[in-house]
Amino acid sequence: MFKFGPNLIPETQIFYKSTYCFGLVNLKPIVAGHVLVVSKRLVTRFNDLTAEEAVDMMLSTKKISAIIEKQYQGSSLTFAMQDGPEAGQTVPHVHMHIIPRRKGDYANNDDIYEDLDQRNKHKKGPDNEERTPRSAAEMKEEADFLRVFFNNDE
Ligand code: AMP
Repeated sequence: MFKFGPNLIPETQIFYKSTYCFGLVNLKPIVAGHVLVVSKRLVTRFNDLTAEEAVDMMLSTKKISAIIEKQYQGSSLTFAMQDGPEAGQTVPHVHMHIIPRRKGDYANNDDIYEDLDQRNKHKKGPDNEERTPRSAAEMKEEADFLRVFFNNDE
């Protein structure tokens, strides 16, 4: 069990573990395959990470993103970190968003950032607040699917 901000995350929703990070399926993905890389230590800001933790987060992002792009038939990726509340962070625990992208998935490419910003009231895409949280069973199913692509021994 790891913390993600105030939330306790069951192992069933984790598909990847490194020394300092874990990969988590999303409660409210903005597109299929939108996952999170989270530091095992509960700290809020990117700069709160030690150098080792920051390197591990980027290497984890690299490994996970390659699998996400391939398995969700992406042809590009959006990486995003909302680092602090004024940047749109809603869970006060440092995490990287990995989002597979396809040609034409958003009519206006950068509208994805409006979807990422759950507080934005003028967004054109589906509203995060209105998006129904996925069931534990659905999240487990995705984590089980993704877990086989990684060597998770920690
Ligand atoms: P941010 O707004 O950048 O802090 O991103 C928070 C992300 O965490 C959003 O993509 C949410 O859908 C996701 N999220 C919130 N709570 C959970 C949870 N309990 N398990 C998995 N993902 C979550």
